[in-house]
Amino acid sequence: MSAAHKNVAVLGSTGSIGRNALEVIRASDGRLRPVVLSAFTNAELLIRQACEFKPALVVAADPQVADGADWSQLPAECKLLKGPDALVEAASLPEVDVVLTAIVGSAGLRSTWAALERGKTIALANKETLVMGGRLVTELAAERRAAIVPVDSEHSAVFQALQCGKRSEVRRVVLTASGGPFRTFTAEQLQAVTVEDALAHPTWRMGRKITVDSATMMNKALEIIEARWLFDLAVDEIGVVVHPQSVVHSLVEYVDGSVIAQLSPPDMKLPIQYALTYPERLPGPAAKLDWTKGWNLDFFPPDFERFPALELGLEAARVGGTAGAVLNAANEAAVAQFLAGEIRFIDIVPACRSILEHHDFDARPSLERLVECDRWARQEMDHWICH
Ligand code: NAD
Ligand code: MG
Repeated sequence: MSAAHKNVAVLGSTGSIGRNALEVIRASDGRLRPVVLSAFTNAELLIRQACEFKPALVVAADPQVADGADWSQLPAECKLLKGPDALVEAASLPEVDVVLTAIVGSAGLRSTWAALERGKTIALANKETLVMGGRLVTELAAERRAAIVPVDSEHSAVFQALQCGKRSEVRRVVLTASGGPFRTFTAEQLQAVTVEDALAHPTWRMGRKITVDSATMMNKALEIIEARWLFDLAVDEIGVVVHPQSVVHSLVEYVDGSVIAQLSPPDMKLPIQYALTYPERLPGPAAKLDWTKGWNLDFFPPDFERFPALELGLEAARVGGTAGAVLNAANEAAVAQFLAGEIRFIDIVPACRSILEHHDFDARPSLERLVECDRWARQEMDHWICH
């Protein structure tokens, strides 16, 4: 990036990615400017962020929360918009250069779509958008010449490692997985895990939904689908390796056998910053590796029996069509039910499989059809839980 600044819309600024992004922006010496901030329920934090960063636009996406909040402390120069449609307006603002999609779940799709339609660069944290509509989203990005730069640490690593060779020279991509809090658990131990256990991730501090996804390894399943679309890979070109330290963020193997990896401590500020400043690198606040100490890096093959979500991800990536949207929505609904204490941890993946197998598959769905699949799968999950 030259001395010129970039205007960033931080959609989901109160979440884990959003807060890390504001740390990166704060440390950028004015090179990155947040012109939009948005939240769903945490109006108080949104107002505090607005007081510090003075964005042109503040979006409170949940209309009920927005109407109940006290906005008197919001700086006068910040325009306030309420409701989900305002996110579409925010992502489309002419002055926005980069849209950081840090909203969790399929709720992130519409604003990402709107930004792509206007040819904006996307710093993509919201992997669910690609899982749901990977083909349509990447086609739209190509048509509008809009770049999608990954924020997900594994995909950022692949994106960086791919700069070492030509696409035709790539043999395969290997995504690393921490293995989550239950990496060494037996099948019996998995039966009894609690919400608290599932939320205690060993290496990453993240939002609740993705933390549960990491515990089931559904996160890696979603990331397989994300990688399939981001890098236009065949499913057989995507591998997964368990790496508990979360220092090697992923690897690209070239046809000559050379493997290029990206390493850094587990700190999302680095991939967030790289996505916002790409194609340049800047000094930043992310943690650095300490080479004065001895340390080990371990790698293990994943266990598909204890973590059946992985197979589900490979299958959905292979068949494409409506499978990603159904799997994603079923998983979002199942995780919400697990967090509410209504289903057991070990029920999440079988419930997703059952819904995926019963859906009316369409190989070339429209956007409307994908949204309909999302709604259907959530309803099915409610029925699954009642029976
Ligand atoms: P989070 O739960 O901490 O934050 C989510 C943000 O989205 C909040 O600002 C919330 O207000 C907003 N939001 C929630 N529901 C919304 C809705 N219906 N409409 C509008 N806004 C809504 O989540 P997170 O951990 O920051 O994850 C955000 C995204 O980034 C997810 O897609 C996740 O998979 C991805 N991601 C996160 C990490 C991480 O380290 N946290 C790493 C890789 C990828
Ligand atoms: Mg990841």
